[in-house]
Amino acid sequence: MTELELLVDFHKDTERQGPGSTADTLRALSFINLKQNRLLKVADLGCGSGAHTITLAQNIEGHIRAVDLFPEFLDRLRQKSMDLGLQDKITPLQASMDNLPFGPEEFDIIWSEGAIYIVGFEEGIKKWKNFLKPGGYLAVSEITWITDSRPSEIEEHWNNEYPEIDTASGKIRILEENGFSPVGYFYLPLSSWIDNYYEPMEERFEDFLIRHGNSEAAMRIVDAEKEEIRKYRKYKNYFSYGFYVAKKLPGK
Ligand code: SAH
Repeated sequence: MTELELLVDFHKDTERQGPGSTADTLRALSFINLKQNRLLKVADLGCGSGAHTITLAQNIEGHIRAVDLFPEFLDRLRQKSMDLGLQDKITPLQASMDNLPFGPEEFDIIWSEGAIYIVGFEEGIKKWKNFLKPGGYLAVSEITWITDSRPSEIEEHWNNEYPEIDTASGKIRILEENGFSPVGYFYLPLSSWIDNYYEPMEERFEDFLIRHGNSEAAMRIVDAEKEEIRKYRKYKNYFSYGFYVAKKLPGK
């Protein structure tokens, strides 16, 4: 198995592939004000196994195209959709978020939790905007500094990992500069990281290592996750995922 296949294997049998919660998804959704006199068209980009896709489908009258690069995640989402009778509302689609097979102004809502960093926040906004109808909404979560200053260890770590990390005001400015009017922001609480993401992950370490015969590559993945968890626990007062909801202005 390649390192990438191992990573997919590590993440595929979990509820979430990133921090989040049903309450976070519903809170972001509550900022969206679209007349529901017709069915809404939604794209959920980097959906993973789609915990939030299910929440959206249960709370929106419309149809969701759920996009991920890896079929393993989409298979899980397909199964969950069928179990819950939501298969007519969710269509999984294997595609890359930087090369989407969508037409201009196709969607009312573009959703993406913990995944826009893959193309980069600004690049994602610029590219995905074209697929949104004027007056449509973008809802994305993105790693964000939640204070104005922070200890150098965590500052340096994130600046190396993802130089686009910024405070909410920086992210909101980027939205404004690209033809969006921000309508909502909040950041994910501790429970969305610990209870919903890191603790379930910690429970899988041992099985994963055994399944892969304690290979060096498997151990590297576990060690990297442990280090990420350590940093989160130590510096949780300085960063989180910010959730940004913004409306596409007409004519932009
Ligand atoms: N939104 C999910 C998953 C977040 S993790 C959640 O919050 O639980 C990021 C997701 O992006 C993973 O599922 C990964 O498979 C997917 N991904 C990675 N590169 C991608 C690409 N180029 N195009 C689409 N999806 C991608």
